[in-house]
Amino acid sequence: MSPRTPKADPACVFADDVARATLVEDVGAASVGDHLGHLVDDERVVTHLFAALQPGYDGWRWAVTVARASRAKAVTVDEVVLLPGPESVVAPEWVPWSERVTADDLGPGDLLPSMPDDERLLPGYTGADGALDGSDEPDLSDVVAELGLGRVRVLSPIGRDDASDRWYDGDAGPNTPMAKAAPGRCSTCGFFVLLRGPLSGMFGVCANAQAPRDARVVSFDHGCGAHSEGASAILSGAAHANDGDLSPGSAIDTVAWDL
Ligand code: SF4
Repeated sequence: MSPRTPKADPACVFADDVARATLVEDVGAASVGDHLGHLVDDERVVTHLFAALQPGYDGWRWAVTVARASRAKAVTVDEVVLLPGPESVVAPEWVPWSERVTADDLGPGDLLPSMPDDERLLPGYTGADGALDGSDEPDLSDVVAELGLGRVRVLSPIGRDDASDRWYDGDAGPNTPMAKAAPGRCSTCGFFVLLRGPLSGMFGVCANAQAPRDARVVSFDHGCGAHSEGASAILSGAAHANDGDLSPGSAIDTVAWDL
């Protein structure tokens, strides 16, 4: 159902002189320009717009809201505010610092601790709680450390999905031109180092100093021309097997060293 359009109250619509008089009294005649029109807010409620003339407020408008009580003859002024118009210069929308800060903003010595309610993290299992509180529980801290646990907080499902989406859709995923033109996938490359933990089913680390992603997380189906078996793929004609793109315009450049 479409919203009801309020009926314009003639007394309020023709009360621009009342609105102007109150506005001039509030902000001074020098700041008030032409009447720019009116907006019908509700039954017997109308906002009159006037150009704002003070320096630094190009395109801003004074909005003076007038109203008339039911069965009353007089119109009264409810509110006077300064509002930006469609062409006004306004500050960009405010973004919380936690969404604004990026990895590039962190310099040596800077601290950027995660908030206690950071949804990317969950409480971890330390295994030492029983020993610390004097209960009979065995101290499992050695086993816990060996298993890679023992952290106060660990990655939550939200944090895991967040990271995997970012990595997979980024320049170490399967959709980059480099990956699509590669002779093979990272998962079949000798330089691919496996991870452990919740992201190990999709990602590993590249350990090839000649590869653009050296020391970076790469997806199983990423790839590059420095694939350890790239030469044999070229010789066998299986190059570009990564995405099946065998278009005639594709080619692989090889790099070799003179010994
Ligand atoms: S060398 Fe290339 S194919 Fe091999 S792991 Fe690194 S990025 Fe993947």
